[in-house]
Amino acid sequence: MSEAEHAAEEGAKDFIREVVREDLASGETSTVVTRFPPEPNGYLHIGHAKSMCLNFGVGEEFGGRCHLRFDDTNPAKEEHEYIEAIQRDVRWLGFDWGEHLYFASDHFETLFAWAEHLIENGHAFVDDQTAEEIRNTRGTLTEPGQNSPYRDRSVEENLDLFRRMRAGEFSEGDRVLRARVDMSSGNINMRDPVIYRILHAEHPRTGNTWCIYPTYDFAHGQSDAIEGVTHSLCTLEFADHRPLYDWLIANLPTPMVPRQFEFSRLNLTHTVLSKRRLIQLVEEGHVKGWDDPRMPTIGGLRRRGFPPEALRDFAKRVGITKSDNVIEVALLEHCARELLNKRALRRMAVLKPLKVVIENYPEGEVEYLDAVNNPEDEGAGKRQVPFSREIYLEQGDFMEDPPRKFFRLAPGREVRLRYAYFITCTDVIKDDAGNVVELRCTYDPATRGGDAPDGRKVKGTLHWVSTEHAVDGEVRLYNHLFTEPEPTMGDEFLAGLNPESLEVLNGCKFEPALAEVNEGDAVQFERQGYFGCDPDSGSGHPVFNRVVGLRDSWAKIQAKGQANK
Ligand code: ATP
Ligand code: MG
Repeated sequence: MSEAEHAAEEGAKDFIREVVREDLASGETSTVVTRFPPEPNGYLHIGHAKSMCLNFGVGEEFGGRCHLRFDDTNPAKEEHEYIEAIQRDVRWLGFDWGEHLYFASDHFETLFAWAEHLIENGHAFVDDQTAEEIRNTRGTLTEPGQNSPYRDRSVEENLDLFRRMRAGEFSEGDRVLRARVDMSSGNINMRDPVIYRILHAEHPRTGNTWCIYPTYDFAHGQSDAIEGVTHSLCTLEFADHRPLYDWLIANLPTPMVPRQFEFSRLNLTHTVLSKRRLIQLVEEGHVKGWDDPRMPTIGGLRRRGFPPEALRDFAKRVGITKSDNVIEVALLEHCARELLNKRALRRMAVLKPLKVVIENYPEGEVEYLDAVNNPEDEGAGKRQVPFSREIYLEQGDFMEDPPRKFFRLAPGREVRLRYAYFITCTDVIKDDAGNVVELRCTYDPATRGGDAPDGRKVKGTLHWVSTEHAVDGEVRLYNHLFTEPEPTMGDEFLAGLNPESLEVLNGCKFEPALAEVNEGDAVQFERQGYFGCDPDSGSGHPVFNRVVGLRDSWAKIQAKGQANK
């Protein structure tokens, strides 16, 4: 069975794959070609990941290919930095465009020739009206637009003016080239849309070669046709542009006819996914940068410690539909948790340390105790963790006056230290203000490894780090960037920022193995969650980002959903 046939049987069953499957079966398409077409005016976000998973996914699954094309038609907003970052992000997510890297600007000469072709056939004209005049005569949803007074210029005059636009004879805004379609169309996109405008701006790739640039609507479909894209997949807001794309293709000598299919954008709770808004967050300093781990950008998620496979799994579970909806960010977290549970090494880290002295443990002695690296993966083996007379416990694991359901340490109570011994709290030491600053405990040497030979049970098992061997470092805990599940998207969206989206903990104590973690590695801090090693880590001073906690809020949401049915 060929790869394509296999995909046809086993693959996802969304409506786009259904179309591709049929087109391949009927011979309508011989090799499926898709493309991912970012505009290089910002960084990619998790919404783009959905689009990439679809485009590259379809290309791969059906034995075809997916191009990476930069839609770089607006020199004013575009930068090299974005072009580089986008390629890095696509690769990191696990996709490969092979030799099929394109830029709309590669096609500028062809697009110009095609614009002339439209003029020659009476399908385009140079308009001298101002942008405002054009806007005011476009009509509304209920009223038709008005023809431009320049609409009936001769082919010769139009060609002459268009060439002089290219030659740089005019200023920005003096003239535009418009397609000559239908000012009374019910679809506003068909009302003589602007297809070229004058922009005396340097382009990141073509420099000063051009001072006129095609609009996105003119460049997009034609670029697809030049590259041989068979299935042009885009989000729903472009459905209304499809008639224009089809009209242009029908009136141009393109080598083939791409077909466009639209699917719904990804929306996520507690998150904004518009590049314009994300730029604002960065530029106004509400986050530390594009790769701030609270950002829904690919760079932010990577820095936080999300594995690329978790993003791909997420895209798969979200699926492809035509209906607008909002996905719980808890699902994304669930995907990371599930994957990291299988993969991440377990380590002990005390985030808010409380010193504990084990009074009957010999002074100066150190033992190395076996600790399992990953109970989900036997191959991950064991490590040795040093134990000594002084250790750190988590402040939250002790209560002087515990409520009934608190099963951790309290005066007179016995608990297990993971991989080590049972200890009993014998004394509580406080500072002048009455804060608990140290605990005194005793241990039972017979419980080495964490079990009592007499079979007695304890209710709590705590993580710990030997003080003498502890590696000091920082931990950054993240919460949703926006407090509300569905943040308002208007200009006042900043008011919805969660003031507690970041909590920085200094003086955290890590077991020695954590000194050797590399940037990008994710580990499980036992009992706390999954943490990724941040590039801010210095030698001997690791910095960790919390990817997700251990508690699965998605499972809870699902359970609730079941109960409500
Ligand atoms: P934004 O609205 O965030 O600025 P955009 O659509 O302008 O994004 P492009 O660079 O033009 O960004 O997008 C590249 C591709 O990614 C397009 O095909 C677009 O439809 C798709 N895309 C962008 N945002 C999403 C999203 N939230 N969900 C799914 N696909 C998306
Ligand atoms: Mg866009």
